[in-house]
Amino acid sequence: MERVVIIGGGQAGCQAVASLRAEGFAGPIAMVGDEPYAPYQRPPLSKTYLMGTMERDRLFLKPDAFYAQADCQTIYGVPAVSINRDAKEVALADGRVLGYDKLLIATGSRVRKIKIPGADLSGLHYLRSIADVDALRPAFQSAKTLAVVGGGYIGLEVAAVARKYDLSVTVIEALDRVMARAVSRPVSEFYEKVHREAGVVFHMNTAVEGFEGRDHLTGVRAGGRVFAADIALVGIGVVPNCEIAQDAGLECEDGIRVDKFCATADPAIFAAGDCTRHHGRGGDLIRLESVQNAIDQAKHAALAMVGKPTPYGEVPWFWSDQYDLKLQIAGLAKPDDRIVMRGDPGSRKFAVFHLRAGAVAAVEAVNAAPEYMIGRKLIADAAPVAPERLADTAIPMKNIV
Ligand SMILES: Cc1cc2nc3c(=O)[nH]c(=O)nc-3n(C[C@H](O)[C@H](O)[C@H](O)COP(=O)(O)OP(=O)(O)OC[C@H]3O[C@@H](n4cnc5c(N)ncnc54)[C@H](O)[C@@H]3O)c2cc1C
Repeated sequence: MERVVIIGGGQAGCQAVASLRAEGFAGPIAMVGDEPYAPYQRPPLSKTYLMGTMERDRLFLKPDAFYAQADCQTIYGVPAVSINRDAKEVALADGRVLGYDKLLIATGSRVRKIKIPGADLSGLHYLRSIADVDALRPAFQSAKTLAVVGGGYIGLEVAAVARKYDLSVTVIEALDRVMARAVSRPVSEFYEKVHREAGVVFHMNTAVEGFEGRDHLTGVRAGGRVFAADIALVGIGVVPNCEIAQDAGLECEDGIRVDKFCATADPAIFAAGDCTRHHGRGGDLIRLESVQNAIDQAKHAALAMVGKPTPYGEVPWFWSDQYDLKLQIAGLAKPDDRIVMRGDPGSRKFAVFHLRAGAVAAVEAVNAAPEYMIGRKLIADAAPVAPERLADTAIPMKNIV
């Protein structure tokens, strides 16, 4: 009977266990994770879990009974250190060796560390894991001023929570707009305005030069000035965990290269989630960092592992919660897309559609569930849409299709 080993006990690893069993895989499965707990959801870490309104138990994707019922051997708190492709074995840091017939690498990504003077001071935080939030939340309770380095979606979600804790918040961003990697300019401008109204101070086009303090942080030096801060949250992106694949001779370049079946060039090895790079729907090589991509790639990897290869072509989607605003994004926008606005940002309910060759290629919806849901369908169908109809809020979304 074939044996499957999964490296990485996160969103993709957990989904792979469920999908392998759902597809009828009957052989042994072992899942190895370097964190000391079962797979959990990360999105609440910068939202409700940081706020303290979500219990830790609710973070876990599945109860322990799920892995027992799925007859999955779980090894937590132990990193896998190498892959021997000839012997088809994975070596663990504690000396154990696991044999496999099919291997899934689902190692996710890690935070990009900032390398500037003072980066080792206490008071400096990153946000990726339960442990990170468990360190940050008590600091929120005692601190008065927070500096957020990087105005991406994690930095802004943390800023929104920090305002609820009544902290003074300063966001320092190197580019000229917030969430620049993830959203269009109108959405960036809307979110910057909302945060400013909530009391967040922004310094845009400003590079951080260093952190001040003796042992503990007292300020952030940026753009030739020093901003007082007793804690800092650094959110400057992530780095895919692909070293274990690279060391095993698999092709990696900002992610493990996989094809549309989530397979690497080694027919026994698959990869899924943040650690991968693949050709997206539009043909571009992309690396996605989202729950959707981790789940869907794990499903397709499982299908391929059980001999039912099915190409991955789902529309990417993502969300972010800040204050009372739910941002939902589907598809991938490009700079040359024609932008069509539906609704008024002033009403805190609107959508930005991105049209390419006459069809919807992406949608960003703020508190606008129908625009998001139907937008996703329009993207999947690639059907031509009249821009003036999309812009007309008198025409219900369901009639646009
Ligand atoms: C704070 C935060 C908020 C987020 N919010 C959103 C959101 O709102 N919407 C959204 O779509 N996405 C969000 N994301 C992104 C989303 O959580 C990730 O894209 C998703 O978790 C990726 O799943 P994964 O399985 O690839 O990686 P992970 O869930 O990170 O799991 C990988 C696991 O593998 C482990 N690992 C790594 N190397 C080894 C090794 N050698 N041996 C053993 N184990 C190893 C890692 O420690 C980790 O536990 C957020 C992420 C964070 C950090």
